[in-house]
Amino acid sequence: MRTRSILITATVLLGLLPVPAHAAEGADTHGVMSVRHLPNGETEYVLYSPAPGVSEQELFEHLQKKGVPGLVSPRQSEGVGVMAGNCRYGTAYALEEGTCPAAAWLKSGRTRPLVHFNDHSSWRWRVATGAAKWHRSPKIDVQSAWNSCPWQTTGIHCVDVQSYDFGNTSSGGFTGWRLDGLRYFIEGSVYVRFNDRISAGTNVYDMIVCHEFGHAIGMGHSTDFYRSCMFPDYKLGLTEPSADDYNLLYYVSYPG
Ligand SMILES: [Zn+2]
Repeated sequence: MRTRSILITATVLLGLLPVPAHAAEGADTHGVMSVRHLPNGETEYVLYSPAPGVSEQELFEHLQKKGVPGLVSPRQSEGVGVMAGNCRYGTAYALEEGTCPAAAWLKSGRTRPLVHFNDHSSWRWRVATGAAKWHRSPKIDVQSAWNSCPWQTTGIHCVDVQSYDFGNTSSGGFTGWRLDGLRYFIEGSVYVRFNDRISAGTNVYDMIVCHEFGHAIGMGHSTDFYRSCMFPDYKLGLTEPSADDYNLLYYVSYPG
């Protein structure tokens, strides 16, 4: 794919841009990941972020007890946490620690890809507000509706959103996805879950929505703990994407 090779060249160059002084050297928390190789040759990833007050190790042990398959121990994943991939823009990294080409949705016949969050979550998760934040990107359309996705309309990518009581030593939210060989999201494979059990301020709920929706459109973690809802620590209650996050979508994930 021609567009994908141009993308790789462009992002290698962007990777050489100086990192702003406000960027952390690396996040202390990256969440817990599960990696499952499916019989059809696809690989399913799920990225779990600890609920506020829960450590990565506690979250890992909780998920292990629940019998979640394919868990990667936080110790094993330390090497992954250096975020060495070239698919980045300043403090913002594409999904899977900046792995190239960046995970992305296909346009599927539209001017821009259209991702539609099909909301089944409880009232505290402000799904429409979260979708609107990513919709500000000129390169991707993001919308939501309660319990509906117009999948019959050509090219709309439906992402299922649900919330449950996952317990108080679990994740605040998590996102699952599968990519095809060109690292495009596979239709119907992407979903978001929120944990109704956590008790926190509105800004923490809003950060979780912003964060998990970012993953669902191809964003990885940010190292900017002052500005980005993609920084992997919900305690901070950062409710907005940063300028680097939008630039990653513009120049790296959806450059065409
Ligand atoms: Zn995350």
